[in-house]
Amino acid sequence: MICPNCHLEIGKENINVQTDVAHCLHCNSLLKLSNIVKLVDNDFNLFNHPEGTWIKNQFNSIVIGSTTRSPIAFVQLPFLTIWSGAAF
Ligand SMILES: [Zn+2]
Repeated sequence: MICPNCHLEIGKENINVQTDVAHCLHCNSLLKLSNIVKLVDNDFNLFNHPEGTWIKNQFNSIVIGSTTRSPIAFVQLPFLTIWSGAAF
């Protein structure tokens, strides 16, 4: 993680996620961790996710999942079944 004040790296040992505090030893800044993360991930959009993934809003949580299924499997599976059968 990069310090927004001096642009040097803040060591993992100086980051406390639970208390939302990061301490930069280079410039001796005490920073709110959630503010630094927002600076780094400005382009992050939860609803602009890759194909094959899904997001469900549930009662008190958000569930994120993905699948390994692909339409190409309809071609690969018969081919590999026959190919493997012939090999034996
Ligand atoms: Zn710093």
